[in-house]
Amino acid sequence: MKCRFCKSELSDVFIDLINSPASNSFLTKEELNEPEVFFPLKVYTCHTCFLVQIEEYKKSDSIFDNKYVYFSSYSKSWLEHASRYTDKMISRFNFNEKSKIIEIASNDGYLLQYFKAKNVPVLGIEPTANTAEVAINKGIDTVTEFFGVQLAKELVSKGIKADLLLGNNVLAHVPDIVDFVSGMKILLKEDGVITMEFPHLMQLVDNNQFDTIYHEHFSYLSFYTVKQIFESCGLSLFDVEEIPTHGGSLRIYAKHEENTKKEISKNVADLLDKEMAKGMNSPAYYQNFQQKALQVKLSFIEFLIKQKKEGKKVAGYGAAAKGNTLLNFCGIKNDLIEFVVDANPHKQNKWLPASHIPVVAEDVLKQSKPDFVIIFPWNIKEEVIKQLSYIKDWNGKFVIPIPQLEVI
Ligand SMILES: [Zn+2]
Repeated sequence: MKCRFCKSELSDVFIDLINSPASNSFLTKEELNEPEVFFPLKVYTCHTCFLVQIEEYKKSDSIFDNKYVYFSSYSKSWLEHASRYTDKMISRFNFNEKSKIIEIASNDGYLLQYFKAKNVPVLGIEPTANTAEVAINKGIDTVTEFFGVQLAKELVSKGIKADLLLGNNVLAHVPDIVDFVSGMKILLKEDGVITMEFPHLMQLVDNNQFDTIYHEHFSYLSFYTVKQIFESCGLSLFDVEEIPTHGGSLRIYAKHEENTKKEISKNVADLLDKEMAKGMNSPAYYQNFQQKALQVKLSFIEFLIKQKKEGKKVAGYGAAAKGNTLLNFCGIKNDLIEFVVDANPHKQNKWLPASHIPVVAEDVLKQSKPDFVIIFPWNIKEEVIKQLSYIKDWNGKFVIPIPQLEVI
């Protein structure tokens, strides 16, 4: 297997999470009686460019199909993030009714709706038909296709180019990252700006976030590596911000390398220095990760077994991809965790893949009064703790399994 960027042979294993079903493949009642497909979940570090990457195990269009149940608009904090981003971009780059904002992986229009409300023309690109349909119903023009060089050329041939081309949590999810970035080079106007947000590999390693690894997530990116990838496609990074979303992400700003009008921010050199100081350009930085994940697994299983033996009731909150990775790596089933609450009605009355834990609405939590509620999306733990503060009425406690087991 070769590195999907620099084509070096991959031999260094970053982490092996053994195997599991696609993390968003929630099961219906009928599907509980059918066999489930498991895929290996092994991640490599390239010893040349340090792109951390998963082996492509099947075509991504079979994952991002119509059953795809992730609707961005269900998280309040994510909507606030999108709204703040919109204001920031409009004030920094002066986008107006003559501009064109194009979002790749625009989901249900959770972000473009804010540009549209300010009369800035938008176009969404979203491969999953059911989420795209929600956006279209909101009046957001959406192309239902995967993005890459081919689609970029088609759009350009129709006279469409972007003043702002953005993508949140998509760069890491594309199987062919070089084709994807090359497509952005084609679709971007001469003086246009690209912004991309993705989880920062430095946070993943430093904070034990191995549960953010799943089959749909092909690349795990440092600034050092992403800069090389963009430069190889004729784009330069002129600014970067470290932002708190998804446990610590980067927002990178790119432009055509030919565009000399935009100055390179000092943030670029500062973040590179920070990554180099940690050793992210040497193999040693990546070598201890399997052992760290194993420690999390052992404490989590130990906790659950102890509660079971003492007759305590344990439930979960947030039927997120993260939770599925953790549960399947730990081999946990519905005999140790009774149910998981999720606000998204598209996930309710379904079952988590492999663990077969039922996904229920919040009223089940209120009726069943569990002793412990495990928060799987630890990145929004403050929001969840506030929302479910009433579990204290029956002396319920919150459990956060990552970066290490914590009971609140
Ligand atoms: Zn490489």
